Amino acid sequence: MKSLAPSVLAGICVAAAACGGGGGGATDGSNTGPPCSDALGVGQSCSIALAGSRTLTLALASHQYVQLSATASPQSALTLIGGYAGEQLRTTAEGPDLAFYNPSDASLTAQIDLSGTASVAVTTQSAALAPAVDCAAECGALIQLPLPREADAYRTISPPRYQFGRRELVQLVLAVTAQMRQDYPGLAPVAISDFSQKNGEVPGTDINGPRHTYPAHAGGHAVDIAYYRASGDNSGKPACPITDGMFCTGPHDIDPARVARFFRQVTTNLHAIQIIVDPVMEADVRAALLAQTSADEMAVSRASRMLQSGQQFQYHADHFHVAFARAPAAVSSLKATHQGAETAVAIGPNGEVMVAFMLLDDQNALGYAYSENFGIDWKPTQLLRAPGGRLSNDPSLTVDAAGNFYVTWLAQRLPVSDVHVYWAKAPAGSGAFGAPAEITVPTDNFQYDRPNIKLSPQGTPLITFARGPAPGSGAEEALDTIIVAAAPDGSTFTQTAIAGPTPETFRNFPFLCAQAGGSKVYLAYGDSGAVYLQSSANGQQWDAAARVQVFSQTTSDPRCVADGDDVWILDAKAKAFPPAGAPTLQTLLLRHSGDGGKTFDPIVTVADGGASSVFMLGNISVGGLGQVNVTYYEGTSDGDTAAKFRVARAKNRGATAFWPTLTLYSPVTLRTGYGVRWLGDYAGTVDVFGALNFAFVDNTGAGSQTMFARAILP
Ligand SMILES: [Zn+2]
Repeated sequence: MKSLAPSVLAGICVAAAACGGGGGGATDGSNTGPPCSDALGVGQSCSIALAGSRTLTLALASHQYVQLSATASPQSALTLIGGYAGEQLRTTAEGPDLAFYNPSDASLTAQIDLSGTASVAVTTQSAALAPAVDCAAECGALIQLPLPREADAYRTISPPRYQFGRRELVQLVLAVTAQMRQDYPGLAPVAISDFSQKNGEVPGTDINGPRHTYPAHAGGHAVDIAYYRASGDNSGKPACPITDGMFCTGPHDIDPARVARFFRQVTTNLHAIQIIVDPVMEADVRAALLAQTSADEMAVSRASRMLQSGQQFQYHADHFHVAFARAPAAVSSLKATHQGAETAVAIGPNGEVMVAFMLLDDQNALGYAYSENFGIDWKPTQLLRAPGGRLSNDPSLTVDAAGNFYVTWLAQRLPVSDVHVYWAKAPAGSGAFGAPAEITVPTDNFQYDRPNIKLSPQGTPLITFARGPAPGSGAEEALDTIIVAAAPDGSTFTQTAIAGPTPETFRNFPFLCAQAGGSKVYLAYGDSGAVYLQSSANGQQWDAAARVQVFSQTTSDPRCVADGDDVWILDAKAKAFPPAGAPTLQTLLLRHSGDGGKTFDPIVTVADGGASSVFMLGNISVGGLGQVNVTYYEGTSDGDTAAKFRVARAKNRGATAFWPTLTLYSPVTLRTGYGVRWLGDYAGTVDVFGALNFAFVDNTGAGSQTMFARAILP
């Protein structure tokens, strides 16, 4: 069963022209428009009683894009052919739809030839089209690739009914093919093959013969394009001997420099996420990309990161495949309507995605959402309730090597009382959490804060949290103890006090980090206004004497990540603390250790807002390449409605240099205080070999929505 993510469907139906039933023809009797004149106008709806052949014209204003539909019943009773007046180039529609575009400042006339015996309903509708690498508006709407003029730098080799792509991708293809012609004068047109069907389905689905394996080419996110060849023939013939029909079985004759130049231009768009070539070509394309590093270092690095070939990607002997990322998905409102903030995310071994968040509209529960395919398709938003009607917040997620997800969170009553830490498990593949179990001792009378879960190198569940005397108990009512609870048997937790309760001081914000398959687990926490790091081989024995002070006079709300013997700790200096909520931050500070946390390099300032910017909710991730990512919200001040969710990615393990900061999403409203637009206390991110999976909050609507998206980083 094929289904599209709601966000994909929403994107398709932004365009009224694409919201119809797809290839279904109009039924007789519904074609009630007036008879068509030979010269069609734009925005027209007319009918033709066709018997034989007829030629229509359509005048296109400068830079105008027009979609024409000519529906007959059955559609096969009509032969529909399009082109431009005065040109020989003609394309047979093989369906009811054709699109035309006038890229010039002069007038241009489209020519439409109809033949057959049928009652034909004709509509014409203009739509926005602005060829460019980056799209400005309605970028997710599906539009049809316009038929090329003879002078254009592309040709179509798929049935036009299989050439519906997201506007951002269609515009990019037009822009980049034209730029290639400018870069290489005399370059022969390049053949454009499949995007998606008009209804967003995989091409061929309309005749029960999908030409690609879902989710490839669904939702208008991908396009197949012929190779630029050394011979100069870019019309889409195989670029190599191919005897098995699937892979090159001999040397290729693509022009790697030209192909790399195409990829480099594509990957200046942050939405580009995947490029596939035949295995025979990959090394040459990679080398050609590297040779172009000085032209655009970031695009070359991103293109190199997303370039793939391999046994799972057959049929790329005659074309390469370019795919764009799915639009950010509102995972707090999947077949439901909820307000979610304070996000956590974990990625399973086969691309399973779990996002958990605090529910603002149903505070007894956490919300969560699950995808088994990298966030392309989602199950409906689900709720996980705390026992006894307590209020749930501070979710933390992790996943084991088998794909079992674990969530831990804080549950309490307000004003703060009756506080407990719970956890729950979602068995691999289920996407659903089972009943909560308590981590803390039910009969203990403490308050707790900031639970955080990781697995030890041995796979032992470890949960850290801060602890203090219960409010109203008469003692100093502050968090004063850092706890790590471990369950070597997978279910029975034993608590160890890492720091406190004496000497009396404020201790909070513990955060665990461990690399899957690594040798150590680390614990960072705030103690008396400073940040300390300790490590353990198994998460059960912690050497207090070996603790290292990493920061002082910071917010003491650290995050850490580990990779091999490298560990990185992020903290911040605050600009202002609101009466209640999360602070605005002035600087984001990072320290790296290359020796397992024994010694640290000097502090690196990742971001400094100066007088113009403040940050919120910094987080850090690292994913197999040793380059850390620091994500954060950035705006001018609390209340800024044009704030951004951004990422700064390190260029090296020591994080002594960073790529230019990228904006992952905007706008959001910077908001420190509680309420329906609360951002929460953190924003979850996971890096998988340079693919950043991020969960954040879009609070520009009536309330906060938890969003999930992916991007390939340099
Ligand atoms: Zn493809």
